[in-house]
Amino acid sequence: MTDTTIFDKILAREIPADIVYEDELLLAFKDIAPKAPVHYLIIPKQRIATLNDANPADQALLGHMMLTAAQLAHKAGIAEDGYRVQMNVNKGGGQVVYHIHLHMFGGRQLDA
Ligand code: 5GP
Repeated sequence: MTDTTIFDKILAREIPADIVYEDELLLAFKDIAPKAPVHYLIIPKQRIATLNDANPADQALLGHMMLTAAQLAHKAGIAEDGYRVQMNVNKGGGQVVYHIHLHMFGGRQLDA
């Protein structure tokens, strides 16, 4: 596992991303390979490699990520119909980028 990821480059504006939200703690941008008409990634500015590396001091940050996902779903107009919030953890969980991120996607009927 490397110390930095592609998301650090996005945070540093070294590579472009379609940013949909930013505050002092978080950045949210469109996934480059969307799985649904709306597919955003919500990442903390502070790098935590996986959810396994989070600790009690990160509790408010993790909650803020979840509430931001809901807020962005409202803004995108998909909150009422429904959407999915997902965090992949490690290889077995399908994690590819080792900087925690929430996927928020919707805008089509998702499988149960
Ligand atoms: P993971 O599989 O780690 O949960 O999800 C990583 C996500 O990051 C994938 O959905 C992938 O499409 C997205 N991604 C990877 N590289 C880039 C990039 O350079 N820009 C953007 N916007 N998304 C990326």
